[in-house]
Amino acid sequence: MTVTKINADLTAKLIAIVGREYVLDDQVDIGLYDCDAETLDKAAPDLVVLPATTEQVAAVIKVAAQYKIPITPRGAGTGLSGGSTCVRGGISLVLTRMNRILHIDPLERLALVEVGATNMSVSQAAAKHNLYFAPDPSSQVASTIGGNIAENAGGPHTLKYGMTTHHVVGLKVVLADGSIVTLGGAARSSNEIDLTGFFIGSEGLIGVACEALVRLIPRPEEIQTLLAYFDTVAGAGQAVSDVVAAGVIPAAMEMIDRLTINAVEDYLAIGLNRAAAALLIIELDGPAAGILAQRKVVEGALEINNVLSMRWAADAKERLVIWKARKTSFGALGRIAPHGYVLDGVIPRSRLAEVISGIEAIGTRLNLTIANVYHAGDGNLHPCMLYHRENEDEVRRVMLGGKEILELCLTMGGTLSGEHGIGIEKMMEMPLAFSAVDLTMMAKLKEAFDPSGILNPGKVLPNLKTCGESGARPLLRHKILSGC
Ligand SMILES: Cc1cc2nc3c(=O)[nH]c(=O)nc-3n(C[C@H](O)[C@H](O)[C@H](O)COP(=O)(O)OP(=O)(O)OC[C@H]3O[C@@H](n4cnc5c(N)ncnc54)[C@H](O)[C@@H]3O)c2cc1C
Repeated sequence: MTVTKINADLTAKLIAIVGREYVLDDQVDIGLYDCDAETLDKAAPDLVVLPATTEQVAAVIKVAAQYKIPITPRGAGTGLSGGSTCVRGGISLVLTRMNRILHIDPLERLALVEVGATNMSVSQAAAKHNLYFAPDPSSQVASTIGGNIAENAGGPHTLKYGMTTHHVVGLKVVLADGSIVTLGGAARSSNEIDLTGFFIGSEGLIGVACEALVRLIPRPEEIQTLLAYFDTVAGAGQAVSDVVAAGVIPAAMEMIDRLTINAVEDYLAIGLNRAAAALLIIELDGPAAGILAQRKVVEGALEINNVLSMRWAADAKERLVIWKARKTSFGALGRIAPHGYVLDGVIPRSRLAEVISGIEAIGTRLNLTIANVYHAGDGNLHPCMLYHRENEDEVRRVMLGGKEILELCLTMGGTLSGEHGIGIEKMMEMPLAFSAVDLTMMAKLKEAFDPSGILNPGKVLPNLKTCGESGARPLLRHKILSGC
């Protein structure tokens, strides 16, 4: 794809569509959009455009197509794989002004929302009907429905309730030529290609979602949350496997390691056991009648794995404190080092203990500080390598460590990403997980939807010309890993 330079004519057309106030071209303003929450690689766009309607999105994309300008959709920029970082410059299309909850239908249990609405705002709007939107990324206060859809976001409760794809039934999308299409819908249909499913997780490569029709589910009658400590991470990992093997699927099973426990305790001072090697949170929910029996099964699985101590939250207030400890984990790690490189490889739950030892060995060999936070119930790991961006040797070791950890996940029968997406972060590892035939098929699908390659170029699909390609911003990871 050749990249046309931004010129006054192009900028004037964009201003005519969204208004002067919503086209940012000042270097300071643009600098604020030079990365997402994966801060290793930064690349500023040439322009930031903030549309307010689907029609404006379509008009902006038509202009981008006419000038062959890269266009990268962006929600709140909380992504952890560099998905909304404009690695080829062009337009950062920020959708946060499109944040209305358009309609809630409590009978059908559906909500029609604009994609710039935050995840949390959808559940807040549905609360008066005792309903909520189940996918709950820890970033839910800030992250948008559009970003959740593009990354197929998960969260602590994915174990029982599934990922974003299980809760979206329809989409209004703008394609690369500016046309507006509706995918899926409320009524069930078995005789069409599932383009809604195809779009979810496509990381902004095949279209820009503008509206979403999402499922809402009733709040459970009863919720019980357990906080438990173990003196080995392997013991906690085995307990997680044993709970499921005993026939209970908790709503969530989350784990954090000693380094993270201490960072959180330094931050929140809520009396966590600093000496424990692992903290496990298990949440049960559902009809009140069955919960007591499930509690007994959980306690039994923990006891046979030498749990140090366990305590069920006495009330909703205590439950919130437990979840605060989990949900502030990554923020708290900022007290140890300014940057964190978080992976999200997935492994079969039964191999948790083995992989945890493997990650520890990689950290020791490469002299890396690795904190571990896990969606343990569904085998989704979040090893977070703590580093200083200005220390090139440390960054190099982080890159190598990341590659080795992902290779380890694949060797164990796992995958590269459980919820954060590939973006730029894991693009170079794609050939480890997929054959050349798989990758060619994905590239053909992308090309069918975006023949000029203007939508979020330089992401997901590896390209051997990543270094020298016209218009590409130089990426630190490519410099380090490929020497270019
Ligand atoms: C502290 C913290 C905790 C997190 N916890 C979780 C977690 O528990 N689970 C989880 O899954 N993730 C988690 N994340 C990652 C992140 O929040 C999610 O990936 C989230 O879905 C991104 O939403 P966003 O609005 O910030 O999107 P952005 O980061 O702005 O964009 C993400 C991707 O979506 C594309 N995109 C955005 N909007 C659209 C659209 N309307 N149409 C097409 N493409 C679009 C972008 O181009 C980009 O590729 C966490 C992040 C942080 C910082």
